[in-house]
Amino acid sequence: MSYINENFLELQDSYLFSTIAKKVAKFTEENPDKKIIKLGIGDVTKSIVPACLEAMHKAVDDMGTTEGFKGYGPEQGYDFLRKAIVENDYKQRGIDIEEDEIFVSDGAKCDCGNIVDIFAEDNKVAITDPVYPVYLDTNIMSGRKITYLPVTAENNFKPELPKEKVDMIYLCFPNNPTGTVLEKEELKKWVDYAKENKSIILYDSAYEAFITEENIPHSIYDIEGAKEVAIEFKSYSKTAGFTGVRCAYVVIPKQLKGYTKAGKEVSFNQLWNRRTCTKFNGVSYIVQRAAEATYSPEGKKQIEENIKSYLENAKIIKQGLEEAGFTVYGGVNSPYIWLKVPEGMTSWEFFDRLLEEANIVGTPGSGFGPHGEGYFRLTAFGTKENSIEAMNRIKRTNIR
Ligand SMILES: *Cc1c(COP(=O)(O)O)cnc(C)c1O
Repeated sequence: MSYINENFLELQDSYLFSTIAKKVAKFTEENPDKKIIKLGIGDVTKSIVPACLEAMHKAVDDMGTTEGFKGYGPEQGYDFLRKAIVENDYKQRGIDIEEDEIFVSDGAKCDCGNIVDIFAEDNKVAITDPVYPVYLDTNIMSGRKITYLPVTAENNFKPELPKEKVDMIYLCFPNNPTGTVLEKEELKKWVDYAKENKSIILYDSAYEAFITEENIPHSIYDIEGAKEVAIEFKSYSKTAGFTGVRCAYVVIPKQLKGYTKAGKEVSFNQLWNRRTCTKFNGVSYIVQRAAEATYSPEGKKQIEENIKSYLENAKIIKQGLEEAGFTVYGGVNSPYIWLKVPEGMTSWEFFDRLLEEANIVGTPGSGFGPHGEGYFRLTAFGTKENSIEAMNRIKRTNIR
């Protein structure tokens, strides 16, 4: 008899994006002449920048020569990329991270999901609500007990420290879906909590490149002492449009310690290294060369332009919604705009009216967790023209 992992039966089915797709398909069928604007996508739309393309083409050519050919590479990532990461993402910001604390991967989604392997199953886990579903579902799959930290307008979408002791804490800033950020002092509270309780913070920094304001930490290691309590996840997906190329990395400082039940200290870096070598054979050479090129002067400039134009869309959407009378969050340090739906309407009712009356597709907040009810997510990954047109359409409706 082959028994299943029954934790999987505890998972809630997510119908969010399939329900949206069905509703949009039905609307399009009934209204073939209406032009729909999609502001629901959580994917970039701009093509890969020339600097990265060039690096990839060159790497492809390397593969076709005996001298340049690369087979299995280091599981943790090539030295050239780990060096570039340490130098550009950390050293230049005054943060001391070593190359062997970086593990290059094929995505932050996999990293956030796989990291649970090195933690005990009876750790208590704190997760915000609403949330990027990966943290939640992977912990349910591995049977952990979850403490939900509600984030709503009442607490400015900044989670409060858990009342009971937790062992693992997931934080994501700039946040998906709310688009909000924590200031240094606010993040420091979490680092202090983790130190006091010997907990670990799992810090998802996928939207770091969208930070525009001062005093917003670009890395959790900007906070003193964070290297003793935090793992950081970074991704080239939203930064450099690598959602289809696939490259990310996780940082596990060597001083980050976990404990056996007998109280013995063990390095998480060693555990993750062991796991990586056993279960992973590295990211393709071609992709790692592309990631390296994001740090070249041209690469940096080209990527910055793309981010700037997404942020411009975010501004257009935020201002447009405010002019239309909505209460709006995010959109300043983030491609996500999180709005309060009008009093007495659910997130899905708002979705339906926005689709029918303005022909705009967004994402109902309740799809990200129960406390997302009453909110709605729009994204800045469309075009400028569509962002402007969408706001004009919303202003013409009487959805308030
Ligand atoms: C998009 C996104 C990621 C990146 O995932 P990849 O697997 O690297 O593409 C990570 N975390 C959050 C919250 C995201 O929205």
